[in-house]
Amino acid sequence: VLERLQSLATLPTVTTDGLRMSLFANIASLRDLEAALEGGAEGVGLFRTEFIYMDRETYPTEQEQYEIYCQAASLLEGKPLTIRTLDVGGDKQLEYANVPEEENPVLGFRSIRISLAQPHTFKTQLRAILRAGACGTVRVMFPMIQSVEQFRAAKRIFDEAKAELRAERQPYDEHMRVGMMVEVPAAAIVADLLASEVDFFSIGTNDLTQYILAADRLNEHVASLYDPFHPAVIRMIQTTVAAAQHAGIGVSVCGEMAGDPLALPIWLGLGVRELSMASGLMLPLKSELLKASAARSAAHWAELSKLKTSRDIREALERLGMGCG
Ligand code: PEP
Ligand code: MG
Repeated sequence: VLERLQSLATLPTVTTDGLRMSLFANIASLRDLEAALEGGAEGVGLFRTEFIYMDRETYPTEQEQYEIYCQAASLLEGKPLTIRTLDVGGDKQLEYANVPEEENPVLGFRSIRISLAQPHTFKTQLRAILRAGACGTVRVMFPMIQSVEQFRAAKRIFDEAKAELRAERQPYDEHMRVGMMVEVPAAAIVADLLASEVDFFSIGTNDLTQYILAADRLNEHVASLYDPFHPAVIRMIQTTVAAAQHAGIGVSVCGEMAGDPLALPIWLGLGVRELSMASGLMLPLKSELLKASAARSAAHWAELSKLKTSRDIREALERLGMGCG
């Protein structure tokens, strides 16, 4: 089975009716990137940079970060590398970030909120990312954005980093694309307002599901409530994709759901062309994708979007996936 899957790595990713999809990898290290490339990844849709910051005593320097990002970009030989800025807090704690003990860390001081409160370290990371843009095709994205103001505040610091590098005559990518994760319900709800300010959206279904359903993604006692196939989650995904399409910007999905074969008809039905997932999930998903029809998923979308329970949605998706819809 593994051999058969591995033989798919070099095939183009197209549905039976000719729709081209891009399968990207989620990585946290250069080692992950090597596995991703073996699995035929067409790029990296999510580089979780927090792992560069963990297991150490102080923030990594600009040069340390630049070397890692640049090496990743070079290994990709022109394929896109989407670097997400620091996303700590919640379940990923950073000792030296001085985040106080919180009653409710997932709703607390985390992610882009920390970056905006510590603009110096945020700018250091952005400078490293911009410089790595000279090593390949790099895009940057901000996690946990919940409003237009917040995106603008992050973008302002990004523009400052650019101006500094320009003044210093350092090589960097002047035209780097700047996107955001859609993983806070507020961002999905106002996706149309954000879509005119950003270059791309990446839907983080892990946090989006947790926040829409008010169910901690790591708490086993509410695990049955944490369901990405809940109609509320599907609607927010639909709203986000529609806003992106209307504005003509890119939209990808990078939460766990992206690698779940059951969800494939959703992406095909909505017209999502870019999925990013753990390397190990890429080839099994590709094997399903090569058998799927985009037109059939699109034809069933209206029906699917009227279903009232996640159970009905899952059953309908199973039927679609099995080719008997
Ligand atoms: C997500 O929230 O869906 C996501 C991709 O980011 P992370 O899992 O790192 O929070
Ligand atoms: Mg997230």
